[in-house]
Amino acid sequence: MEKLKFLGIGGALNIDLGGNSAFLKKKDKLLVIDACEGATEKLLKNNIFDGIKEAYIVITHTHYDHVAGLGTLIWYLNYKLKVKTYVIYNSKRYLNHLKRLFKTTGVDLKLINFIKDIDFSLGDLTLKLKLTAHEPTLICNGIMFSDKEGKYYYTGDTNDIEYIRKMAKDDSVKIIYSEVFSKDSDSHISYSDLLKIKSDKFILMHINSMELYEQIKKDGLNIADLI
Ligand SMILES: [Zn+2]
Ligand SMILES: [Zn+2]
Repeated sequence: MEKLKFLGIGGALNIDLGGNSAFLKKKDKLLVIDACEGATEKLLKNNIFDGIKEAYIVITHTHYDHVAGLGTLIWYLNYKLKVKTYVIYNSKRYLNHLKRLFKTTGVDLKLINFIKDIDFSLGDLTLKLKLTAHEPTLICNGIMFSDKEGKYYYTGDTNDIEYIRKMAKDDSVKIIYSEVFSKDSDSHISYSDLLKIKSDKFILMHINSMELYEQIKKDGLNIADLI
């Protein structure tokens, strides 16, 4: 799997690093993972929409830092670019959760083709949404990508350090894109817990403070690539 490129790698309040969103482009298909505030502008300014005929959006969960740019992205893809737009879901429950969000924010459901995660592919890359624990009132997912070389786990926002430990030990998992938080938290993965795992698979994202960002750089761990 080609490395994911990021529009932002900050936690919700880390304005300096931008909201955490990533994308992958293959020929005329674009996959966007979460839609941070300003996602459309960032994709546009970096010419990412060029040549795109189909756009796929996967939302890990509906916390505002992950969906603030979602409506505008869907409107822009449909009305300006005339690009067929898909939103990925895995269960009826999550589909209804997303539809409620679109209805309350005035995004016409006719603009969206809903597609099940198991029916999506980008070349040989497939994905599966995996329920995780983060915020009890929301449906929160990580994403397991797979291609012929192996698997790649994207944590989304999570507090499930046990699952990350398991993925770090699993030889079929090549990369773990992990969220990280500067201290112990009920909703996030603490940096000290990640360090204890001692895996070189980690690419860190959703970094909650600039102090933590500087610390990670100093410690020499991988940080997700910003465009
Ligand atoms: Zn978040
Ligand atoms: Zn969140």
